[in-house]
Amino acid sequence: MKIVDLHCDTISWLQENDQTLWHNQAQYDLKRAKDSGIYLQLFAMFARPAEPNTVLREILKQVEKFHAEIEANQSWIYTLNKYTDLNEPDNQGKLAAVLHLEGGECLGNDLETLRLLYRFGLRSLGLTWNERNQLADGAAERDAGGGLSRLGRRVVAEMEDMGMLLDLAHLSERSFFDALNYYRHPVLVSHANAFALCGHWRNLTDDQLKALRDHGGVIGVTQVADFVSETQPGIDTMIDHIVYIADLIGIQYVALGSDFDGADDMVIKDVAGYRNLPEYLLRRGFNNQEINMILYQNALAVLEKVLPGP
Ligand SMILES: [Zn+2]
Repeated sequence: MKIVDLHCDTISWLQENDQTLWHNQAQYDLKRAKDSGIYLQLFAMFARPAEPNTVLREILKQVEKFHAEIEANQSWIYTLNKYTDLNEPDNQGKLAAVLHLEGGECLGNDLETLRLLYRFGLRSLGLTWNERNQLADGAAERDAGGGLSRLGRRVVAEMEDMGMLLDLAHLSERSFFDALNYYRHPVLVSHANAFALCGHWRNLTDDQLKALRDHGGVIGVTQVADFVSETQPGIDTMIDHIVYIADLIGIQYVALGSDFDGADDMVIKDVAGYRNLPEYLLRRGFNNQEINMILYQNALAVLEKVLPGP
């Protein structure tokens, strides 16, 4: 079994709690990820945006933690810099780690820090985490939310040129549609669910899901209980989101984005629980081909189109 998971906050958690990726008390470690068949994982770097003077240093510490952990576990995991790294003989049987930044506050007001982080392995960026920043407005702004700033547009254009994935999770509705206008590659919504089933402000409306289909991209259905259901969060109600989105826009746009270590209350408690997901999907009427699309093929198709070539 192969699984691509588009979002976890484990590296930030490890850095804060001084624990290791191989084995830890978090929701995700390499031991359990390996057993569950995780093939590729986006690891988010995240620092509280309210601390403008320290935010870059905090992110750099996490980038260092990411590389140190990969070095310490190099027989099990490697950094994915370009898509064809997946085919390298040395990398077979190992987990591909993609470095993601959740929130662009640390980038400041120019493009150089973004370029430097690219050299450090950054291959995916979400412009903001919930709040308004110098690049875009976040989902927490709700109906006060505006779109991308001029700098935000320049950042998105630069990302397109570099081959960096654009993640639209956490954006305000207007920023979401704006970003689709300024970025031509397919996009990720790394961790969110359908608003029609669970009216949380982080979930996507039907119009957003249809725009995702029209632009090309995938949504990583997430395990965060608050985003699954207001009344009955559980594995079956989480799968309701997969069914709903597949019915609305097509199964080729559905992927997984757990958000492990990003929230306490998850419907699949930890990465070990991913092992049973194919069984649950089978019981809900998906065939093997469709299950493979959800588990990894749809997400890989986006990465192949965006990440740098050989
Ligand atoms: Zn998040």
